[in-house]
Amino acid sequence: MAKGMDEAKEICGRCKQINNEEVFMVEKHDMLVCPKCQTSFFIKGKSPLERYKENWNNNADEIFVLVRPELSQGDLVNPRLFFLYEDCYHTILIGRYNASIIMMGVLLETLMKERINLKLGGYFEGEYGPCLKKIKVERLMDAEDIVFLRWFKNEVRNPYQHANEAEILQGVLVPVWPIQFEGEISLEKLSKAIKDTKSGRLKPKLLPAAEIPAFRSIAKQAYDRKRAIELFNQVYDFLLGAKIKYFKQEEYDEHNKKFGTGLENVEHYKV
Ligand SMILES: [Zn+2]
Repeated sequence: MAKGMDEAKEICGRCKQINNEEVFMVEKHDMLVCPKCQTSFFIKGKSPLERYKENWNNNADEIFVLVRPELSQGDLVNPRLFFLYEDCYHTILIGRYNASIIMMGVLLETLMKERINLKLGGYFEGEYGPCLKKIKVERLMDAEDIVFLRWFKNEVRNPYQHANEAEILQGVLVPVWPIQFEGEISLEKLSKAIKDTKSGRLKPKLLPAAEIPAFRSIAKQAYDRKRAIELFNQVYDFLLGAKIKYFKQEEYDEHNKKFGTGLENVEHYKV
């Protein structure tokens, strides 16, 4: 579509062809949209930023009330955990659910590392699995918390970290309307099929999303939204519980006495 086309008033081709109706396309950010049938086109050369911002905004309005209330730095004290928590929170608000879930894994892994460092000193490296093992062997957390962390590793962290769609969607059924066209496909046939599915005349078949690669990525979008909200609230509760149980001020004091703060090796200015 050429630039300046929006002023020339486009008529929706679909509405014209199917219903012989002249519906003017309306410009919305970088798109032309038919207000009747929602057919849309991108306008070449226009910035998508305003459209993105509108999506982020609408999404945040919806999600904000479905997840636990925001935390401030003072609620968590530990800045390393706070900034990772913010990564989980802000990505879920703007609708990047997959990113939010992956960040929850990073947050929990880091929470374990902070606990290990607090009690044992040094700087524990290694991934989620080795962290969990260390926590268990050294008895640094309660059994029920270790069970949660292990569940999260197997059910969430591993499949999401490796974008294993088949594993993530195991057992998820998606409604599909398999339609066969006799002869050539035309816009009229397609419109009739859409009408029949919308009216309920054609019933959907429930198919396992994990087994059909063509559906997986699309099905995962809707699935991740629901999953991310549930998981965010679970991880949030775990985080607040852990803050009270495993990051006590007296443990920090003891840590600093035993291992130092790292600042004692810095040459200080004398004032
Ligand atoms: Zn239209």
